[in-house]
Amino acid sequence: MGGGVVGLSCAFELQKRGHQVTVLEIGRCGGQASGAAAGMLAPYSENVEGPDDFFHLCKESLRLYPAWRNEVRRISGRAFEYTESGSLYIAYHEADRLALEGRRLWQNEHASSGIVLEGDALFRQEPMLSRDVKAALYTPEESHVYAPDYVLALEHACRLIGVQIFEQLGKVTVAEWRNDIVVASQDGQSFTGDRLVVCNGAWAQELEEAFDIRIPVYPIRGQICAYEAEVKPVQHMVFCNQGYLVAKENGTLVCGASEDVAGFDTSVTERGIERLRKWNKQAFPFLAEQEPFHRWAGLRPSTQDGFPLLGPLKQSAGRVVMAAGHYRNGILLSPVTAQVVADYIDGGGSPLSAFAPERFTH
Ligand SMILES: Cc1cc2nc3c(=O)[nH]c(=O)nc-3n(C[C@H](O)[C@H](O)[C@H](O)COP(=O)(O)OP(=O)(O)OC[C@H]3O[C@@H](n4cnc5c(N)ncnc54)[C@H](O)[C@@H]3O)c2cc1C
Repeated sequence: MGGGVVGLSCAFELQKRGHQVTVLEIGRCGGQASGAAAGMLAPYSENVEGPDDFFHLCKESLRLYPAWRNEVRRISGRAFEYTESGSLYIAYHEADRLALEGRRLWQNEHASSGIVLEGDALFRQEPMLSRDVKAALYTPEESHVYAPDYVLALEHACRLIGVQIFEQLGKVTVAEWRNDIVVASQDGQSFTGDRLVVCNGAWAQELEEAFDIRIPVYPIRGQICAYEAEVKPVQHMVFCNQGYLVAKENGTLVCGASEDVAGFDTSVTERGIERLRKWNKQAFPFLAEQEPFHRWAGLRPSTQDGFPLLGPLKQSAGRVVMAAGHYRNGILLSPVTAQVVADYIDGGGSPLSAFAPERFTH
């Protein structure tokens, strides 16, 4: 249920392992958050507090990515950008240097070779960066994909190995899950199966009544924009506490992203983009002369505690498996989510209790 990066990844992995998979999508595959994403694979820059279960899940997914990317490319026959650029997390104040050092220390214990750079060493790495930047945590392991092409390749790969994909279904509801799986679409079709994998992103809460549990998943709008950049002006993914910039192979410089509570509204506002522009210029003064040529927005599936809902619904005897609420990191988490879901369906253990879908229901 759901044809975003999470649904397509689960379908791809399960079909490869011999299951017959059907993807049901109310709109177009990749038409929501997954097609809007910046595509950063950045477990270290995205987890600044410390090594919790979510960080470990993100890190494991980054480890899986090269083999996963090769497989998606090989089966789909479609290339998509995957750039091992590394990242810089920048700080403007001396006082923040200490925080970067603290982060470097714990991240070095978890497979990062990050170092804190400053002065000439920093500006050699990122020549156009503002001289107001005092220091940056450089993490060579982080990389990025071009998300729209990656999702298209996944969809193509799924089709080529026999996944059936139904799009434009309008409305899709769960008609039966306690004994059998029956899912109904608006146009009167019904789909049956042995298992239901719920991957409907920011819309997961709609199933609260059907499953009789709390599903606190909420849409958080991300407004994002891109500048034209013929000569690659930014060498790494550059993060600060307000957002990020990442240069893509197709000659664009992507800059994201706001975090707005706006329901399911995906419109772009002048104010949202102006906010991005303000700190962009501060980080890279050459951007003061440029206007973004492309602006868009997507709905991140956020959860009450920031962790995804990943694993079986106990009261369904494992018939229903949830994989939703990946918030800011669904592109990064796609390989590990597919693996965890497929391992469970193939008889492996349940994923960590920290991700259990019923954890909000007392
Ligand atoms: C601006 C922005 C930038 C981002 N940048 C990054 C990044 O750099 N790196 C990263 O890892 N992540 C990033 N993300 C987050 C990432 O995009 C999401 O975590 C990820 O796309 C979630 O994937 P999904 O498949 O769960 O959701 P979606 O892509 O939203 O897919 C869910 C699908 O389910 C469908 N659906 C809804 N209800 C039903 C139903 N009842 N039946 C059938 N289908 C249904 C929807 O139409 C939709 O297509 C970003 C997100 C945004 C918005």
